[in-house]
Amino acid sequence: MLHNCDAEKLAHVWLNEASFKAALICLAFILQTTNVFLMIFAPPSNRTMRTKTIRCPSTGTRRTRQAVVDSRSLATETSVKTINKDVVVIGNGPSAITLSYLLSGRWPYYKGMDALGHPPDFLHARLESKPNCSLVLQDLKELSEGLEGRSSNPVALLYDTLNHPDADTGQDLPSLLSWKNHPEHAIDHVVLGRGPPGGSWQAMEGDVLTISRGTWMELANLSFREWEETACERQLGIRQKRASVKHVAQYYHDYVNIKGLRPYFRDSAEVTSVRQLDQVKNVPAESYAPTLWQVTGHVRTVEGLENFQYVTPNVVLAIGGTDRPNSMNVAGENLPFVIKSLQAMEKLISSQQLNRQSEPVLIVGAGLSAADAIIAAHFHGIPIIHVFRRKATDPSLIFGQLPSNMYPEYHKVYQMMKDNGMTYTGYTPMEQCQIVRIQSDGKVCLQGPDYSTKIKVSFVVVLIGSRPSLNFLENKGRDLTVDVTKPISCRNNPLDVDLFTLESNKQPGIYAMGPLVSDNFVRFAQGGALAITRDIHTKLSRLKAKEESFNSAIPSVTAESVSYLDCPT
Ligand SMILES: Cc1cc2nc3c(=O)[nH]c(=O)nc-3n(C[C@H](O)[C@H](O)[C@H](O)COP(=O)(O)OP(=O)(O)OC[C@H]3O[C@@H](n4cnc5c(N)ncnc54)[C@H](O)[C@@H]3O)c2cc1C
Repeated sequence: MLHNCDAEKLAHVWLNEASFKAALICLAFILQTTNVFLMIFAPPSNRTMRTKTIRCPSTGTRRTRQAVVDSRSLATETSVKTINKDVVVIGNGPSAITLSYLLSGRWPYYKGMDALGHPPDFLHARLESKPNCSLVLQDLKELSEGLEGRSSNPVALLYDTLNHPDADTGQDLPSLLSWKNHPEHAIDHVVLGRGPPGGSWQAMEGDVLTISRGTWMELANLSFREWEETACERQLGIRQKRASVKHVAQYYHDYVNIKGLRPYFRDSAEVTSVRQLDQVKNVPAESYAPTLWQVTGHVRTVEGLENFQYVTPNVVLAIGGTDRPNSMNVAGENLPFVIKSLQAMEKLISSQQLNRQSEPVLIVGAGLSAADAIIAAHFHGIPIIHVFRRKATDPSLIFGQLPSNMYPEYHKVYQMMKDNGMTYTGYTPMEQCQIVRIQSDGKVCLQGPDYSTKIKVSFVVVLIGSRPSLNFLENKGRDLTVDVTKPISCRNNPLDVDLFTLESNKQPGIYAMGPLVSDNFVRFAQGGALAITRDIHTKLSRLKAKEESFNSAIPSVTAESVSYLDCPT
């Protein structure tokens, strides 16, 4: 077994002063990868020598090395092969898809100011000062300075300002970005997601319309409108501006195939653990020795579960914010007739377990998902009791912020909530009300501002928001949030990241995008892909440059003489 200090001694013998640092960079990789290798294959006894072709995570170079292998553990080797990647992306929603597009070498360029004077002059001047230079190679901090909008992430604002000029004022103008393919800059990566590409869009109720305009749901360099016109029949009328959830989900799925991203995607893949591998000791502080991460999980296939294991210096968390429905923290919440998604309610309706003869369905919440549930149940004539904590006239309710001509269905629900059950038969709003207890006999105890009551219901549908689940990380990812004493929340306690790279301020090599960094709309989540691609591209370029200077300094060292090295010599 090669020890860290032996490796350093060898390096000293072979290398002159100037190339020593560069050698350590490679050694860091070797030793870390060797640690992984030995951890998996080489407990103290029953060792044999094996030859293995391995790949340096950040350079893409492959070479053969000999390693000590435990003959008893060969079964592990064949069943779970360790795959090295420069980047492992967890989640396969619109954030991850956009990131994969950029990582695959498709880079954005500024096309120039449009006839209406977009973008703002100061941004145009900065961009014009570096013509024909992709945004991936520019100073994103400088470019985004002074931009304002609905995201707290400056690179998200920069991307959105260029991709959807003046969208916040309701404009629907062509993008100011063009795209060029640079296969030579493609970064080796894998995208792991639970279902088919599209992330949470594949799990939402398909007939619901998006809140955003259809065009704001589109991803880089593929017009949603053009796709929709060829792929499906468009509805006419005012709602044309919005898209159906099923079309958006289909668009994301098709995007991966149309843009040639399929080889990067591993569908039906659940990540169950992300762990940091042992750090190399005795490496000078100034040298670059990236942390390596081990990402494990399984893919669901027709034959059953198939385990996977990746080792990478860069893990991107693109897991969205909907995995764990929020809890009411009341007794009986886990009873089988308490459900927490619109899809589950739709299934009950289509299987006739919930119908117009049922006891009332109790819907909890005053957001758009609760409104969607009310619309669906009302449409099927199912009696509804609607419980929500605020007053129906509370100006902070989302409904008051949506223009009525764009969102007639939500305004209808808003009207029903304010009407106090006078006009709409089968719908009973209970404002300023909370569930106290749910009983196994189907009775629910409710507490209002000046009353308490008990009601028999068929089902309870709780739609009060959700949060991400970072259970696959050490300490459930709690150390990564802005306030480590509080649970993660996309709105109030997101992950603590560098604003211009989206790399964690707490764990190097961990990146986050989308709702995890408070970008809850697809329009803004995409800017994260630019920030991350730029940072990883820069890291890899630096590493490659160091490797090249190392190579030129020691031309006489051959692969055979240093067979344990991962990196080129
Ligand atoms: C009902 C509803 C309506 C919405 N309407 C709009 C709208 O109109 N406009 C808009 O811009 N935004 C809308 N949003 C928000 C939008 O869905 C998100 O901003 C967007 O989907 C975020 O994309 P993402 O790729 O970051 O995450 P997601 O789309 O959430 O995808 C992440 C995926 O990662 C998967 N995942 C999580 N953990 C793991 C793991 N351990 N292993 C493997 N996979 C994992 C998740 O299951 C999920 O499928 C809406 C959200 C909801 C819930």
